[in-house]
Amino acid sequence: MQTCSGRPGGHDVVVVGSVNADLVVGVERRPGPGETVLGADLATHPGGKGANQAVAAARLGARAALVGRVGDDGHGRLLRASLAAAGVDLAHLATTPGAPTGVALITVGPDGDNSIIVSPGANARVGPDDVAAARAAITAASVVSCQLEVPLPAVAAAARLGAEAGARVVLNLSPPALVPDDLLARCDPLVVNEHEAAFLLGPDGPRDPAAMAEALRRRGPRSVVVTLGADGALVAAGPEPVRVPSPRVAAVDTTGAGDAFTAALCLRLARGDALPDAARYAARAGAAAVRAPGAQGSFPAPGDLPGP
Ligand code: ADP
Repeated sequence: MQTCSGRPGGHDVVVVGSVNADLVVGVERRPGPGETVLGADLATHPGGKGANQAVAAARLGARAALVGRVGDDGHGRLLRASLAAAGVDLAHLATTPGAPTGVALITVGPDGDNSIIVSPGANARVGPDDVAAARAAITAASVVSCQLEVPLPAVAAAARLGAEAGARVVLNLSPPALVPDDLLARCDPLVVNEHEAAFLLGPDGPRDPAAMAEALRRRGPRSVVVTLGADGALVAAGPEPVRVPSPRVAAVDTTGAGDAFTAALCLRLARGDALPDAARYAARAGAAAVRAPGAQGSFPAPGDLPGP
């Protein structure tokens, strides 16, 4: 397993991923076909897994860059502003003429249950050309971090370019999808929550977290992290899986916990931590993110992290 201790001149983390405006409306109940219901006031929040992870990493002190696309519209400008305010390098965030910025249309029911429609918009136009345009940043990065809210060819190209240049590749398999073996083999680690792990392993796969992590590792990634909500995470990197606890916190809203976790993991890997140590730090960031509502608004600065 390679270690990186901050490559000179490069970013700690280059995220190749999505940028969405989250449009959130509270409803008493959801409309049936042909029906209209009234909802509460619309709230518009910056989101998208790529943007979230870049913001979360930057807030923790990472030199972070985002490779992605927004539309030439108000949502795009809003998202650029939130990323810039967090200190994310936006040199490789392109504006796509003729495509809207990605949006997630979210209704929240009375019990806090979410129903979400994602319209990828400009995110669907992210491709290998964008990765090639960001070549200098990706090849100089300590960690290249991807999720699956942009098309797979872009993710595969970023992972290949990063790995060949000696960057560490972190893939968060979210939303869950089957990915080619050569992409899995570059992951160090593959990061999944329990649902994503179960998706990859299929209905006959193991359900015990340690067995899941081991079974996933046999699929080819160099290492695997399975996040377990309040129960922390499992790290499969050495001979035995390592359990990493999460600090106990009063959970308000778990949105963005996985993004905060992955971002913090990338930062600590970039700074040279071994994977279990990076996961212990990441669990503190994930726990911090559930103490406040929303995603980007809940991401911690180093001083906000709960004790281990
Ligand atoms: P996702 O948001 O991708 O579903 P998880 O729910 O597993 O991912 O959360 C990611 C990480 O955030 C966990 O590994 C844990 O460290 C932290 N976390 C999530 N929920 C809680 C909680 N209720 N209490 C403490 N930590 C939490």
